[in-house]
Amino acid sequence: MSNLEQRPQEQSCAGHPAGEPSPDPRLLEPREVPLGGPRAMTVRRTLPHKQIRTVGAWCFVDHYGPERTRMAVPPHPHIGLQTVSWLLSGEVEHRDSLGSLQRVRPGELNLMTAGHGIAHSEYSLGDATLHGVQLWVALTDDHRETTPAFAHHGDLPEVQEAGLRATVIVGGFAGAASPASVHSPLMAAELALSADVTVPLDPAFEYAVLALDTDIRVDDVVVPHGGLQYLGWGADELRLAAAGTTRVMLLGGEPLTEDLLMWWNFVGRTHAEIDAAREQWQAGDPRFGEVPGDANPRLPAPALPTVALKPRPSRR
Ligand code: MN
Repeated sequence: MSNLEQRPQEQSCAGHPAGEPSPDPRLLEPREVPLGGPRAMTVRRTLPHKQIRTVGAWCFVDHYGPERTRMAVPPHPHIGLQTVSWLLSGEVEHRDSLGSLQRVRPGELNLMTAGHGIAHSEYSLGDATLHGVQLWVALTDDHRETTPAFAHHGDLPEVQEAGLRATVIVGGFAGAASPASVHSPLMAAELALSADVTVPLDPAFEYAVLALDTDIRVDDVVVPHGGLQYLGWGADELRLAAAGTTRVMLLGGEPLTEDLLMWWNFVGRTHAEIDAAREQWQAGDPRFGEVPGDANPRLPAPALPTVALKPRPSRR
């Protein structure tokens, strides 16, 4: 998906020095972002958040649906990140400038590595209810210029325990490991709960829990549907309690030590670098290429704010 905000601001995300104490847990309330266009979808965005900008290398969390709507995101560019497309219902078709053409269904992962630059498009198929999340992973400085790549994983590992079925999307969880290729220590899992459960965490990771279906209790704190409960780092387990059957997304990773600058669909480090990527997209530069099989007009980049941001603390 694309960040279709009409006037996106630059988001600066300062990294943490090693050894910094964990921030306190807190609820990150979503903000509703209308994606514009004639068939507008509204998404609930919880990262970046003004209080917490990143969770490990996770730098962008959009949650949409369940809703009878269409996703129609024509060709647009990315740099410096990986996109994780995850559906809870519906079906989406992905095309990219590498020539990939791949449908994704619930329980399957589409993982696109933008690296130096890629263009892609995404359209929902059929009239089924659409429910899903779009996550971005910031590539660390030693990987952000990597060759672009696309991978589909249709058979992800599951962990089954009393009251819990977990699908490991990225990284490791409860002894199972996803085959998806990532470049920094991080994880994501969908947890389907039918009872109160306690799950293991890595104390070196910071974590957050997104309430996908209903309100849920996370370590005895009520997290409303759509909210992202930030947990900090240092814990070795997490307690989850729901009134009935429900699903959450668990995201975690080692706290980033690097500063990021995010704007529109780009993750970079400097205003000049973002400005150059924008100009190249607007000019049809081969850095991004064309998306074969998609005849729709490409998304034009919005205007870039003229005032360059200075890095701000990632927590406050
Ligand atoms: Mn996209």
